[in-house]
Amino acid sequence: MFIDTHCHLNFKAFEGILDPVLERSKKAGVEKIVIPSAKLDSSRKAVEIAGKYSNCFAAVGIHPHHALDRHAEFDSASSENRTQILKQVQDDNDIKKQLLSLASNPKVVAIGEIGMDYHHYKNSPAPDEETKGIQKELFLLQLEIAYEKKLPVIIHCRWAQTDVFNIISDFIKKKPLNGVFHCFEGNKEYLKDVLNLGFYVGFDGNSTYPENHHLRELMLLTPLDRLLLETDAPFLTPIPYRGTQNEPAYLINVAETVSGIHKKSLKEIEDLTCSNALKLFSI
Ligand SMILES: [Zn+2]
Ligand SMILES: [Zn+2]
Repeated sequence: MFIDTHCHLNFKAFEGILDPVLERSKKAGVEKIVIPSAKLDSSRKAVEIAGKYSNCFAAVGIHPHHALDRHAEFDSASSENRTQILKQVQDDNDIKKQLLSLASNPKVVAIGEIGMDYHHYKNSPAPDEETKGIQKELFLLQLEIAYEKKLPVIIHCRWAQTDVFNIISDFIKKKPLNGVFHCFEGNKEYLKDVLNLGFYVGFDGNSTYPENHHLRELMLLTPLDRLLLETDAPFLTPIPYRGTQNEPAYLINVAETVSGIHKKSLKEIEDLTCSNALKLFSI
């Protein structure tokens, strides 16, 4: 059995097409799916889908992109107001309460995706120091929830390796937890550091793109008892489907890439990555 450990079936792209998507996934041998969330509403949706389909499992959490959602005025606020808003975020237990309650559902198997993102996207500039501070607060809050609920974490980290690593390594010294660095990016040293933490490493469809040699190098350096397969569907569609909407059935194309790089049969990759996913998420 293959397990897609990162697939956003809770996103709009899958609305109304879940049955055929899951049908094709099953046919391809991808029999279990973990659905990570980005906001409170997608967390609720993930739990709802996991409740409906026995082979689907939810991860609840707030993605760093959405750290400022409740404070859309932040960007245009004066520095005085910004301090106020920052304080509000720190004082606000509402997110914690809601996530804790969602995480009590037996189909919730992780907290995620959570982390830090300093990338400059088309419609949002790279975060300034205050925004980074808010991302950090939100990240720490959710690590705390994972620890309280004894759940693993799904880490999203983009252009924020040093900060993410420092936050996690400090946190787990006092409060041990495990998880996956999903859609891994970084250099070889960073990969080594992440492996030393005891975390798993997730690879996605972008590892099949010809230009991404560095991802395949990292894939080879990742021991097979620590590697997880992800689609991150509807994004990052692997070759040869690049240009269309990604879906869990295409996990096989990521698995084939791992198989080629590690020079192991597809069956061995299937068994090893499946056992990793079962171990980490207890599904
Ligand atoms: Zn992500
Ligand atoms: Zn994702």
